[in-house]
Amino acid sequence: TSPAGSVRDYIRTIPDFPHAGIQFRDVTTLFADPRGFRMAVDQMVHPYAGTRIDKVAGLEARGFIMGGAIAHQLAVGFVPIRKAGKLPGAVLSERYTLEYGEAEMQIHDDAIQPGERILLVDDLLATGGTAEAGIRLIERLGGEIAGCTFIIDLPDLGGRKRLEKLGMSVDALCA
Ligand code: 5GP
Repeated sequence: TSPAGSVRDYIRTIPDFPHAGIQFRDVTTLFADPRGFRMAVDQMVHPYAGTRIDKVAGLEARGFIMGGAIAHQLAVGFVPIRKAGKLPGAVLSERYTLEYGEAEMQIHDDAIQPGERILLVDDLLATGGTAEAGIRLIERLGGEIAGCTFIIDLPDLGGRKRLEKLGMSVDALCA
């Protein structure tokens, strides 16, 4: 490892957030550190350098922070995939189930053109439900997913297997 350490060293775990028994991976400490943030962006971009990516799509909210920086680095545009009710224009929606209840993500219906190659970005992959909703939205617009990239993959929650079953290429910097 370099003197700056690894991305994992900048992430802290907060017990019992947002509910008792959840070990929340807090990436704000990674984002706040100049070397940590830059290292994470560089490592997420690395597999895609020199490949065709037309746009980066980021999942609200921490996927916007990584996705914006990754899009800038790849010199492509950025598309937000947001929680329902936040985007001002005409949208497509996808509902998905959470541990308790349902959630819904939306994309502007003109954000992606058919055949564009999209890199999907979020901070953390758990069950994969959020990423799968993003994949469905992108594919409904005719986009092709070049890859799905995360800072953290929690493999016990099965998200990677779920996305790989959909034919996705999945990258993560740490577990
Ligand atoms: P999934 O849909 O894969 O079950 O959950 C992933 C989504 O929930 C991501 O958008 C991610 O930001 C959020 N998430 C779930 N658990 C954590 C966590 O421990 N830390 C962080 N930073 N995000 C989490």
